[in-house]
Amino acid sequence: MNLGLKGKKAIVCASSKGLGRAVAEALAAEGVDLVLNARRSAPLEETARELHKAYGVRVTPVADDITTEAGRDKVFAVCPDPDILINNAGGPPPGDFRGWTEKDWQAALTANMLTPIDMIRRTFDGMVERRFGRIINITSSAVKSPIKALGLSNGARAGLTGFVAGIARDGVAHNVTLNNVLPGLFATDRMTTLIETISARENSSEREVIAGLTHSFPAGRLGKPEEFGALCAFFCSTLAAYITGQNILIDGGDYPGTF
Ligand code: NAP
Repeated sequence: MNLGLKGKKAIVCASSKGLGRAVAEALAAEGVDLVLNARRSAPLEETARELHKAYGVRVTPVADDITTEAGRDKVFAVCPDPDILINNAGGPPPGDFRGWTEKDWQAALTANMLTPIDMIRRTFDGMVERRFGRIINITSSAVKSPIKALGLSNGARAGLTGFVAGIARDGVAHNVTLNNVLPGLFATDRMTTLIETISARENSSEREVIAGLTHSFPAGRLGKPEEFGALCAFFCSTLAAYITGQNILIDGGDYPGTF
């Protein structure tokens, strides 16, 4: 299948590792030039070097916090006219809603709702003028099936989802699509840290922790980041011009509903 992406330019936010990196790698494999972003410079530079070496595409790292206006300015200074925008950032911490202050809510809303909305605001009209654009927001399966301890994430991501639903039809006649991809549990560094924490707390092996987390999953395992990357690359492709405003779940069948 030819995804038709060779020579396109993508901004991939929060992409030195994890799901963001997996999407960047899938796009690089299709010949897409990349602007990568993360807060810490060293791991970001290393990822940029690795992807350039493996796929020969141009890779520009921009080290800054994407949830700040200054960070976003820096990203757009090196790539004002992306063909593809992948919105991503760290997720809010778990907890109990009784303990969350307005400051906690503001941080979650800034990272997981207002930042992607600002990124869309800065790219959408240019994509329409150039008659090509693909915007993907990495959200969470918790949008479809909220998780009690992740209330900050449930709330902020639901806000983004509502916003996207309202504008996603505006660009499709001009070959600009806007979709959300909802990961279930994937074996990224974030998950590895969680598994190590549970393993230390419960004095059990990491293997046992993973088995405990996944035993009720229809797929019986965590998702692989490259599976996530491949799905996003397809939604960025020229073949996916007729798909917009969708919330695409990738969770190994964990969500049991029809819709
Ligand atoms: P990860 O493995 O921890 O990777 C996070 C990446 O984002 C790193 O490159 C990190 O680099 C960067 N980053 C974090 N905050 C940033 C910021 N403010 N500005 C710029 N870069 C930032 O995490 P992941 O598992 O890929 O998760 C990515 C997103 O998907 C999160 O929002 C998470 O909640 C969501 N999600 C993940 C899963 C899963 O199973 N993995 C499931 C559902 C939802 P620096 O730390 O250097 O900035």
